[in-house]
Amino acid sequence: MEWTTHCLSGMAAGHMVTGGDWRAALVGGLAGVIPDLDDHKSKVGKVLLPLAYFLNKTFGHRTITHSLLFAFLAGIILYLFTDPWIWLAAFAGIMAHSLGDMLTGKVRFFYPAQKSFGISTSPLMFNMIGRLTAILLLVYIGRETLMTLI
Ligand SMILES: [Zn+2]
Repeated sequence: MEWTTHCLSGMAAGHMVTGGDWRAALVGGLAGVIPDLDDHKSKVGKVLLPLAYFLNKTFGHRTITHSLLFAFLAGIILYLFTDPWIWLAAFAGIMAHSLGDMLTGKVRFFYPAQKSFGISTSPLMFNMIGRLTAILLLVYIGRETLMTLI
């Protein structure tokens, strides 16, 4: 999926798990793009290029940063140093990213286990699923925004 879809899914996930906290939506959206730090061609990978190259060469794409282990470690670190809602939103954002990637490809979700999970798709299906997901997430976020304002 594209980084915008990962950001939207992270926002929705952060918002949902905290019962509608918009600050958590922002944290979830940020966390939702972090797993692609293992790809130097991704938006976040281009920002932190040396780290992206290191992660890609050492672990590969869609491995450790897309795993349940990574989400737990990030959650534990944030839990120790921030407010509880922040770790929960970040964990949800990372999970949303990994689950979203499983809709359009394989992810080593239980890294370091070798088995990958997900649906392999053609480039056309990749784009269609990504865009449909983005539309659904925009509808959800728009609806929640309207409900907040009413
Ligand atoms: Zn990814």
